[in-house]
Formats: sequence, C-alpha cells, structure tokens
Amino acid sequence: MQKCINCNINLSNITNSEEHILPHSIGWKTAVTGIFCKECNEKFGKSIDHAMFENFRFPATVLNVYRENDRNIPGMRLYSKTSSDYIWLLPGGSIKRASPIQKISDNIWRLYAETKEQLNKLVNSFIKKKSDVKIEEIENDQSILAPEDYHTTEIKWFTGNSDVLKSLIKSAMVFYLQKENIPQFIEKIPALLAGINAGGKAYPIVFKQLNPEPITAHSVYHTIYLIGSLQNKMLASIIELFSTYRYFILLNNNYPGLDLCVSHSQNCITGQEYTLTKTYRIEDFRNDVNLSIEERSMGFQKEIRPLKKLLNNIILNKLLNKKLDFELFDIPKGTEITQEIIDKIDAAQDFTRSENRSFDTLNRGSV
Ligand SMILES: [Zn+2]
Repeated sequence: MQKCINCNINLSNITNSEEHILPHSIGWKTAVTGIFCKECNEKFGKSIDHAMFENFRFPATVLNVYRENDRNIPGMRLYSKTSSDYIWLLPGGSIKRASPIQKISDNIWRLYAETKEQLNKLVNSFIKKKSDVKIEEIENDQSILAPEDYHTTEIKWFTGNSDVLKSLIKSAMVFYLQKENIPQFIEKIPALLAGINAGGKAYPIVFKQLNPEPITAHSVYHTIYLIGSLQNKMLASIIELFSTYRYFILLNNNYPGLDLCVSHSQNCITGQEYTLTKTYRIEDFRNDVNLSIEERSMGFQKEIRPLKKLLNNIILNKLLNKKLDFELFDIPKGTEITQEIIDKIDAAQDFTRSENRSFDTLNRGSV
C-alpha cells in the first residue's frame, strides 16, 4: 500500500489527495495522486504553497493565469505610500477604486458609478444610512480616481523567501515521484519540507530562459526539469516560473540512479502543456555557483525585463483613454493614457534606464 511521503500514513480512498506539481494557485494544471495524504496536502497548501502564491500574486493577477475548476485569481491591493488607502489591481490587469464611496469631509461624500442607474442605486442605499450629508454625484467615472496622495505601491520583484523555496523543493519532489516513483532517491523528505538542512537545497539562479518562446501576452510558461547524473551523483530539478524566475533544486547529492532529463512545460495563460525537447546536464548549471550576489542581482534585472514590460503593457492597455490620477511606474499623475504614451513606454522599456527602480530587488535566500 502507498504511504504519504511526508507523514507515512497509509493512503486510502479517504486519506489520499490530489497534489499539483506546482501550486494550483499560480496556475499549474496537472495533479497527481498517491504522494501526500489529505492532511499534509492541506497543511502545505496553507503554508508554503500559500507563500508561493503571495510571492507571485502580481504576475498571476495581471496575467489572469489559467486555473481549472477553481475560483479566479484574487486581485491584489496596491497601497498608498502615505496612508492605509488602497486600490485594487484586478485579474487581467485592470485597476479599480477600493470603494465607490469617498469621504471628502465630515459632511461631504463623493459617490462614483459608471452609469446613472448604478449611481441612483448607490445614492439611495447611502442616504438610508446617512441622512444629513451633502452628496456629490459623479456619473460615468472615467478616471481611476483616488485621493490626491495616491501612488501605486512599489511592486517587489522578489524571487522568494524560505517558504517559497520549500514549496519549490516539494514541487521538484512531486515531479520526480510522478516520473520515477522511487522515493528512496529523495533523501529525508519530511526534514527537507520542514526546512531542516538535510542535504537538499533550493536557490534562485541566473540562467537563460528554459522555455525558448518569447514572452508575449499569450506565451508565459511554467517549466520544470528533472535532471539526474550518474557521473556527478546528483539528482536536481530546475524550475522556471512565469518564463522568468529560475531556481536550482538539489534533491540528492549522493544519487545512485541513472542519467535522466525530463521536462514539463505549461502555458500559464492558456493551460496548454507539453514536453520540451531540449535536454540539460547538471554541468550546464554549474557556472551559476560562482556568481557573486551583484552578478546575480544584475542577471535578475535582465531576466525580469521582458515579463515586466508585458505586465506594464497589460495594465496600461486596460487604462487606455483614462486619466491617471496616481503615479504608475514611470508615468506621472494626470497623464491621459493614449496609444502614443503606451508606445513610448514600450520603447523606453527596452533600455536599461529603470534598472535602479526599487521594485527590481533580488531577495536571495536558500534552504
Ligand atoms: Zn501525510
């Protein structure tokens, strides 16, 4: 009988559960069974897989990534720099005010709606609660209005914290067990998942894009490779998220098995899946070990550029013909978003001028 590889409980119809190779929350489609029990799966879902989603919520939200049989990707809050106010970044990249009701002063409130009908409804429900106030009615709200001091919050392009790296270790294990189903080649599984130093390692790497397709609004991929080397006695996995974030995951440093290289790639927008034909060897990733933190950081700036450009453009296209009432990336407040503006930003993004922006930070860590 199969056992949960984390807690060793026998897997039955009741205790067995479906495990996604990469978390479903960031758009991975394929699930496998017979690896974790329901309880362990739920525990990881709430902890390390949730950390994974939080870390990649920005690309997942803007790209509105593909998820089967599930709720939409939740929006994310962009907080004001000066107060606790926020606006919503919704799936697909559109931006919405947090509330259609804005308090201007003690007795003046401003209500926003897209149509007269919606506005009447809003006004009626509002005056039921507050009868002694003056209401400014704003119809056909074209601006993405926000209070004067709004700015978008800085979006961090983090590669992840230790929980994210643990979730990646789990993904690599699950992928390995799906392909090979020889648990003893992954040593000390529960210890690795608990983050105890058990010979396993995961860290971000600087490497060329694994899925060779250029990043566009229709092609952004999650890709996972599993590489075993008899000569180097290593079993490792390379995971690439959103065609941009790459990680090296060491599963066994004393691997007694045969050479192998298998891959799986999935379009996070369409859900289309396939196996890549390119094969890698452990040696292909060896150069990365000698890079300094500065070199890694610079490499990361370069790697994120195409994805950053795509996400910026998706957001800007949603804002076409609207006036920006807050600063978005490099565009000043009050700018009307025209196609010309979008093209200008598009061209400017090919240069390195925004390299020193604060959202380009690399959070290097390993477990
Ligand atoms: Zn279990």
